[in-house]
Amino acid sequence: MSDCIFCRIVAGEIPSQRVLEGGDWIAIRDINPAAPTHVLVIPRRHVDSIAALEDGDGQLAGALLLAARDVARHEGVAESGYRTVINTGAHGGQTVAHLHVHVIGGRQLTGHGTA
Ligand code: 5GP
Ligand code: ZN
Repeated sequence: MSDCIFCRIVAGEIPSQRVLEGGDWIAIRDINPAAPTHVLVIPRRHVDSIAALEDGDGQLAGALLLAARDVARHEGVAESGYRTVINTGAHGGQTVAHLHVHVIGGRQLTGHGTA
C-alpha cells in the first residue's frame, strides 16, 4: 500500500516522531495533537480498520491494546488517565484508512472523541 500515508510512515518514507515500537506496531506522535499526549499506535501491517480485521487477527488486535498501555506508561499518563480511540469508517470519523489507536491524555478530556 505505497499510497497509504501510515504505511509510508512505517517504512520511514515519511518522517514521524516515534515514541515506542514493537514487533507488530509503531507508536508516533499525532501531527495535530488534541492534548499534551496524543500518540497513534499503528500496526506495521496494513489493515484498513477494525472492520477489516479477520478472525485470525486476535493477536495483533491484542498487541495494539497492550501497546496503548505501554505508550501511556511511557508518556506518564497511566495514573492520571487517558483515552483510547479507534475511529472506523466514514461515520466513525476515520480520516486515515490504516488502523490506528489514538492514545490521548495529559489534560481533562470531555465528550467521547479525540477533541
Ligand atoms: P483518524 O481521524 O483517522 O482517526 O485519525 C488520523 C490521525 O492521523 C489524525 O489525528 C491526524 O492528525 C493524524 N495524521 C494524519 N496525517 C499524519 C501524518 O502524516 N503524521 C502524523 N504523525 N499524524 C498524522
Ligand atoms: Zn497502510
